[in-house]
Order: sequence, then structure tokens, then C-alpha cells
Amino acid sequence: MQNPNRRRFLGTLAAGAALAGGAGLATRALAAPQAVVVGGGPAGAAAALALRDMRPDAPVLLIERDPRRLGRSAGAFDRPAAGPDLAALRRAGVQVVLDDVVGLDWRAARLELFSGRRLAFDALMLAPGTAPLDEPIPGLDAVARHRWPAAWGSAREGQRLAAQLAALPEKAHVVLRLPSPLSHPQAALDRALRLAALLTRTRPAARLTVLEAGATPGLADRFRAVAAPGMTWLTGPEGGAVLSVDAPAGTLETGAGRLRADVVNFVGLQGAGAIARVAGLADASGWCPVDAAGRSLHRSETLILGDARKGATRQVAAALASARDAARA
Ligand SMILES: Cc1cc2nc3c(=O)[nH]c(=O)nc-3n(C[C@H](O)[C@H](O)[C@H](O)COP(=O)(O)OP(=O)(O)OC[C@H]3O[C@@H](n4cnc5c(N)ncnc54)[C@H](O)[C@@H]3O)c2cc1C
Repeated sequence: MQNPNRRRFLGTLAAGAALAGGAGLATRALAAPQAVVVGGGPAGAAAALALRDMRPDAPVLLIERDPRRLGRSAGAFDRPAAGPDLAALRRAGVQVVLDDVVGLDWRAARLELFSGRRLAFDALMLAPGTAPLDEPIPGLDAVARHRWPAAWGSAREGQRLAAQLAALPEKAHVVLRLPSPLSHPQAALDRALRLAALLTRTRPAARLTVLEAGATPGLADRFRAVAAPGMTWLTGPEGGAVLSVDAPAGTLETGAGRLRADVVNFVGLQGAGAIARVAGLADASGWCPVDAAGRSLHRSETLILGDARKGATRQVAAALASARDAARA
């Protein structure tokens, strides 16, 4: 038996489909109701497919700003591309729009896109993943963020970091900075181990320092168990917190003193994707509080999927599970 929320979501779609007729995106933009999924990562793409599967007669539109995200392979230091790709979405009849959702008008039930288009929705699923939050660290400005790429979900930053690492001097010092709390603890450990392995292979005389602002249980120990000499992990209590930075000079003031680095992979504090915050779906933590079915606690008619949810396990399998759950909700 369907639960009341699933009936409500599917009922909204059915009503929308009856009104929509056969209009295309351009003419629908202000008039025709439909289900819209924002974000084409694993969670959003899987949810769009699941919706098509459940109601082949109802239009489903997926908006993704980064066309590479709907491809099959991930680039250097990128997130895994483990969701359904563009071909699978199109085969299933999902309409894909490549654009950036920059605003949301709840009263008019309308999304505002970077291109200037506006898009009406009847049912909304938001899967925007994560984005950096502001951190009050003196010197951490746009220049610093550019010179010291986080490469934490941005393919372009991943390429920049890879290029910087390829140009390192033999006796380089590389710093990996990790915030607290960590959005993706396993990915953070993987990043540290990957940098360590890369330096061991290509620059055996180089050093790596991991500066963790907090002390996530188990991470430092797992790193130390396999790290080569010259590879150090400092937790917050050991001086790993970054107090201020001077990116042009290549220095970081930490609880353990000043460090000079040739390359810094500066991972900033994360929260839900910016559109979730703009739309008022995130709380003071920067994440979107949801109930067990993924409904927003701020807007119960909206489903939040994947990494953007507060308290989520931020891995591909969990993102896919959240899409399945939401489609059933
Ligand atoms: C560096 C890193 C490494 C990782 N490694 C692993 C791993 O090895 N194994 C694993 O299981 N998990 C890994 N993860 C976690 C995994 O990537 C996430 O759990 C998963 O991608 C979450 O899926 P999602 O769909 O919720 O969000 P995302 O994959 O982040 O997708 C969100 C999508 O929404 C789009 N978007 C955001 N805002 C808008 C907007 N306003 N308009 C239009 N589009 C928008 C983005 O472009 C993006 O494509 C890693 C994460 C990181 C950061």
C-alpha cells in the first residue's frame, strides 16, 4: 500500500501531467506543471529515473549545471561518477536541462535559472550535493582559495591541484588541510593516503603534513599506520587547526606554529549545496534537516536527497539509497 506522502507526491504529478499536455520546455517555463529534480549527481539522477519508472506518463525534468557530471568517468581528485549518465536518463525519457538553479520562488513554485529562464514545478526534489561554507580564517580569501584548491567536488580545482603536484620540486612540502566537522571522513582519509602515495612514488624526498582542524576518531591512526617517514598528521589538539593563512607567501599559521608549503590542498568547511541554503532549506549547521523519508523539515513538500541532508552518510551508495527512498516516499 502507498503511504500518504507517496500518494501526495504522485498525485501532484498526475494532476500536473493532466494539465501539461505535450508542451516542451520553452513553453512550459511559466505554465506547465511537472516534477523537477535539481542536481544530476548520483542522488538526483537516480531519483529522476525512479520517478520515470513509477509514472511513465508524468514529465520529469532534471537540472544539472555541470555537463561532465553526467558523464561516465571522474577526473583527477574528483568525486566518483557513479550515477546514471546522460544517455541512460535520455533513454528513460528524463528531460535534462544544463543550467544552474540560482533562485527559488516558493510562492510562485518557480525556479530561477542562471540563463534567465524560469521554470515552474509541482513537485521538487533537491539533490545539490555539498558546497563550501565561509570560514573566519584571516587571509582565506578568493585568492587563497584559487591558489590552494580544495578539489572537493570541483573538477576544475581537481585539475589545478593535479597540475600543481606535477610541478613540485624534489624536496617539496605539501599540506592537506581538513576542516571540522568533516563532510566526507572516508574521502578525507583517501585524499591523505593518495597524496602520500603520489609523493612516495614521484618525490621520495618530499614531505606531507595533514592539518586536521578536529580529531575524527580513527582517521589519524589509520594514516599513521601506513604513512612513510616525512608524512605527518596533526589533529586539532596536536596543533592541526589553521589560525590564519598567507597564500601569496605560501604560509599557514597553525596551533603548532608557522608552516611553509609548496602546494596546499585546502579543503574548506562544507554544507549543503548553495541553492539549498538560498531556498531556506538548510539550518544553522549549513545542512538540510529532513525526516526519515527525506522530506525537508523546513518545507515538507520538498524532498532532499543525497549529501545535502543533515547527518547523511556521504557516500555514493547512501546517495542512491536516498533516491530510492524518496521515490517511494
Ligand atoms: C573528494 C571526494 C571524494 C569522494 N570519494 C568517494 C568514493 O570514493 N566513494 C563514495 O562512495 N563516495 C565518495 N564521495 C562521496 C560521493 O561523491 C557523494 O556521496 C555523492 O556524490 C553524493 O551524491 P549527490 O547526488 O548527493 O551529490 P553530488 O554528487 O555532489 O551531486 C550534486 C550535483 O548537483 C549539481 N548542482 C548543485 N547545485 C546545483 C544548482 N544550483 N543547479 C544545478 N545543478 C546543481 C552539482 O553540479 C552536482 O553535479 C566523495 C566525495 C568527495 C567530495
